[in-house]
Amino acid sequence: MFYEADVVVPDVSRDPVVVELVKMTPPERLFDYKLVFRDPLPTFISPLARTALIGDAAHPFLPTSIQGASQAMEDGVVLAACLDRAGKGKVQEAVRVWERIRYERVHKIQQTGITTREQWHKADWDAIWKDPESMHLKREAWILDFDAEADAYASYDSVREKQAEESRDS
Ligand SMILES: Cc1cc2nc3c(=O)[nH]c(=O)nc-3n(C[C@H](O)[C@H](O)[C@H](O)COP(=O)(O)OP(=O)(O)OC[C@H]3O[C@@H](n4cnc5c(N)ncnc54)[C@H](O)[C@@H]3O)c2cc1C
Repeated sequence: MFYEADVVVPDVSRDPVVVELVKMTPPERLFDYKLVFRDPLPTFISPLARTALIGDAAHPFLPTSIQGASQAMEDGVVLAACLDRAGKGKVQEAVRVWERIRYERVHKIQQTGITTREQWHKADWDAIWKDPESMHLKREAWILDFDAEADAYASYDSVREKQAEESRDS
C-alpha cells in the first residue's frame, strides 16, 4: 500500500533533515511496510528431530531488535557445532541439543525488539530533547559479546545429559 509523502512525515520527528528527506521522497517510492508480531513457536524442530527451522522462519524479529540476521547466523553456527560435537549418525541428538541451546536465548533477544519498540513508539519527546541519550539503542553485552560457537561446544554435553535425564523421568 502506498502512502502520500505528507502522511508519512511523523509528527514526532522534529529533525528538519528527516522531515525534508521524507518530503523529497517520491510518493511512489514510499510504502507501508507492516511490522508483524509473532508469538514464539513452541518448538523449532520436527517431532523426530530430523528437520529444524532456523533464522526468521523460526523466530522473526522486529527491526528494533537489530538482531534478526545475527541470530540467524548464530543458529547456523550453533547447529554446525552441535552436529560436529555429536558426530556421525547422531543428527537427531544434535538437533535436539541445538534447539535447547538456542530456544531461550533467541526469545530473550526477540523480546528486546519489543522493549525498544515500546520505548521509541511511546517516547516522551520533551524528556528526550532534554536528554537525547535516553533514546539511544541499548547495546547489551550479553547479546553482542557472546561467542555462540564456543558456548555450544562448552555446553553440548551438559545439555545432552539433561535431556537424557528428562526423557528417563518422563
Ligand atoms: C529493512 C530491514 C533491516 C534489517 N536490519 C537488520 C540489522 O541491522 N541487523 C540484523 O541482524 N538483522 C536485520 N534485519 C533482519 C534480517 O534481514 C533477517 O532477520 C535475516 O535476513 C533473516 O535471515 P533468514 O536467512 O532467516 O531469512 P531470509 O534472509 O528472509 O532468507 C530467506 C530466503 O528464502 C527465500 N525463499 C523464500 N521462500 C522460498 C521458497 N519457497 N523456495 C526457495 N527460496 C525461498 C527468500 O527469497 C530468501 O532469500 C533487517 C531486516 C529488514 C527487512
